[in-house]
Amino acid sequence: MRLIEKECPNCGAGLHFGKDDTTCKCEYCKREFEIERDTEKKKLDDQFILNELKTPFKFFAYFTFSSMISQIIVISITFVIIIIVAFNLIQGLSDSNSLFNRNSSYVTSTSDLSTSDYSTLDIQSRILISRETTGITGMYNTKGNFKREKIYVVSNDKTNYIIPIYKAEYANISNSEDKHIIYIPIIYKNVKTKNNSIAFSLGEGKISAPEYHFNDNNYSYGYTDLDTLYNEIIKQYENDYKIVTK
Ligand SMILES: [Zn+2]
Repeated sequence: MRLIEKECPNCGAGLHFGKDDTTCKCEYCKREFEIERDTEKKKLDDQFILNELKTPFKFFAYFTFSSMISQIIVISITFVIIIIVAFNLIQGLSDSNSLFNRNSSYVTSTSDLSTSDYSTLDIQSRILISRETTGITGMYNTKGNFKREKIYVVSNDKTNYIIPIYKAEYANISNSEDKHIIYIPIIYKNVKTKNNSIAFSLGEGKISAPEYHFNDNNYSYGYTDLDTLYNEIIKQYENDYKIVTK
């Protein structure tokens, strides 16, 4: 049987169909056409006119879903997905436990932190103290490591502060009688746990204490007693936050 050769009215690709066909489909752009025949025309090829078949949802004509039922299914699924995504995006802005953030949650208690979280926090804090006091402590060295004396977990439904306090014992290297004990609080804001372990990046956390002078030139940062520290750092949160300590 002789095939009629036409250009696709949509994309220009070659289109072939039999002379008795009533519809045809372009292999390239997947558009479907109704074949209209004008028998007045003398040349056989000129007798065929292609009219695009209008599908109810033009957008989906680009896909190979030809039946209306499959188009309706695709549209319905798409709408459901859009609604779920939109709902979770809105939730995600206010709730750290949304679908996209399921494994991440704010620390609101000292028991939210595991033993390994505490050591991560301590390592991070000691790095921070060393970095911030390099060059200013002069002849005064710390005896041993900074020991975590206490920790406050301050939280409300919007944010949290994790405030570990490190006891530092500085002694003059040429006079061991000349020693100073101070408490150094570090504030970490918005601390979360992700997949059950603490999540924060290096560089977060700030020492929050005034200068403590060993002499005119040499100093560190800290409080001489824990009560003063509490009054100046923690007390301000008493009304609007839950405070847990260990
Ligand atoms: Zn085409």
